[in-house]
Amino acid sequence: MRLPVLSIRDVAERHLCTGCGACAYLSPDEIEMVDDLDQGRRPLLRHAAPADPRSEEAARACPGAALEQTAGPSTPGVIHELLPAWGPVLNLWEGHAADPEVRFAGSSGGAASALALFCIERLGMHGLLHIAAREDVPYLNRTVLSRTREEILAATGSRYAPASPCDSLHLVERAPAPCVFIGKPCDVAGAHAAARLRPALERRMGLTIGIFCAGAPSTKGTLEMLKAMGVDDPESLLSVRYRGNGWPGLATARFRARDGSVEERTLTYSQSWGDILQKHRQWRCYICPDHTGEFADIAVGDPWYRPVPDNAAGSSLVLARTERGRRIIEQAIDAGYLLLTRVEPRVLPESQPNLLRTRGAVWGRLLALRLVGAAVPRYSGLAMRPFWLSALSVKEKAQSILGTVRRAFRKGLRRRRAVVPFEAPHHPAHHPPHRPSPASPQVGAGARGV
Ligand SMILES: Cc1cc2nc3c(=O)[nH]c(=O)nc-3n(C[C@H](O)[C@H](O)[C@H](O)COP(=O)(O)OP(=O)(O)OC[C@H]3O[C@@H](n4cnc5c(N)ncnc54)[C@H](O)[C@@H]3O)c2cc1C
Ligand code: SF4
Ligand code: SF4
Repeated sequence: MRLPVLSIRDVAERHLCTGCGACAYLSPDEIEMVDDLDQGRRPLLRHAAPADPRSEEAARACPGAALEQTAGPSTPGVIHELLPAWGPVLNLWEGHAADPEVRFAGSSGGAASALALFCIERLGMHGLLHIAAREDVPYLNRTVLSRTREEILAATGSRYAPASPCDSLHLVERAPAPCVFIGKPCDVAGAHAAARLRPALERRMGLTIGIFCAGAPSTKGTLEMLKAMGVDDPESLLSVRYRGNGWPGLATARFRARDGSVEERTLTYSQSWGDILQKHRQWRCYICPDHTGEFADIAVGDPWYRPVPDNAAGSSLVLARTERGRRIIEQAIDAGYLLLTRVEPRVLPESQPNLLRTRGAVWGRLLALRLVGAAVPRYSGLAMRPFWLSALSVKEKAQSILGTVRRAFRKGLRRRRAVVPFEAPHHPAHHPPHRPSPASPQVGAGARGV
């Protein structure tokens, strides 16, 4: 039997939330994003009996519950061989930010940050809505509207930790000029769906950039990574980076030791992401069909189709997914913000072979969830079955179904799980206090859904 997913509460409690934050933007009086240590950023309902019709709109826009890809073979300019598995792609490039500091600090080649800088400095856009580490609790994230090169540079690098950039879309809606938005594919899908409901936001969405994403680990993942680095007390943490400052760069924690000195510890990418963080990915990531930003104007990822030596200079794979995206990439190249070379379509599947297999496995996983009566998102226009048939071995096919049945019982996916807000202790001596947005009293698990 398939459980109905009717409300934002249902999405969050039935394990379908991606943590994008779009619901909190759409219905700010009733929904607030909080950190849940085990899950990620999650919506919490402020009132026991939600009555705001905007909460129903939020449920309709929620990318955790449903995704609909409307681009198809008749979409002008799309590369037909890529469309079924990778969504609409008009052109592909490989390269990096021309500014060496942005390239070095960037997660791949700094293309996302360089594009945002170009939009602000040359196209007159107002700012960039994206995420950055919290100053008071550096292992948590916050959404920021960056307006300067310094602010954008300070937030470069992938943060393998929960983030909900859509929770502050009101800053874009109220901005005096269009803005850039950077987020994971589900964040971009949430922003896209929200903009369809709010014309004022739509008018201010100058450009959307999706970063490739294999999955977002929970805060627990970061705490485990810090422990592996020898940072036993998270309150002593001064900063944590996961990538960047090299390609892919080292995970780096700076913390205050017991004697008061500042120490730095690092892990390689395979030690941090491979051995620890990826094991803590939220459940929704296992059934995510869009890891490459299909709903964005531009998508960026790693061109891992060739071996990358240690200490390589950063490089980005850049996809134009809409005409607006293509135009802005070409203008940014002409203006000297990006150094890019056109590459063949095959570079995309060769760069991300795991993502193609994952897309196939999602079909088997959804089938298993239906069989055991767990909640299932609605996807349309996102082909999965052909890749289950073609990209997976017999063993992987069986695993996608049987493994999910096992997981459904082990992780309790058939039962509701209430959102549990996590209040991190912070160090006022080291960091300015975090000021959350004014909130009405919060209502926990027992409250009725919106
Ligand atoms: C959870 C996660 C999973 C990833 N999985 C893959 C993958 O499977 N394949 C792959 O090729 N690359 C993956 N990446 C890396 C990322 O897609 C690439 O590095 C991308 O090319 C961006 O590089 P850049 O140098 O252009 O970005 P930069 O110029 O460094 O800019 C990065 C931007 O991303 C934003 N950002 C960072 N972390 C987050 C977050 N958690 N949520 C929302 N926005 C964020 C920052 O605010 C910044 O604006 C992942 C990143 C994350 C955060
Ligand atoms: S809109 Fe985003 S944050 Fe809200 S419930 Fe849906 S996926 Fe979660
Ligand atoms: S894997 Fe998909 S659902 Fe998970 S964070 Fe990435 S884009 Fe969002």
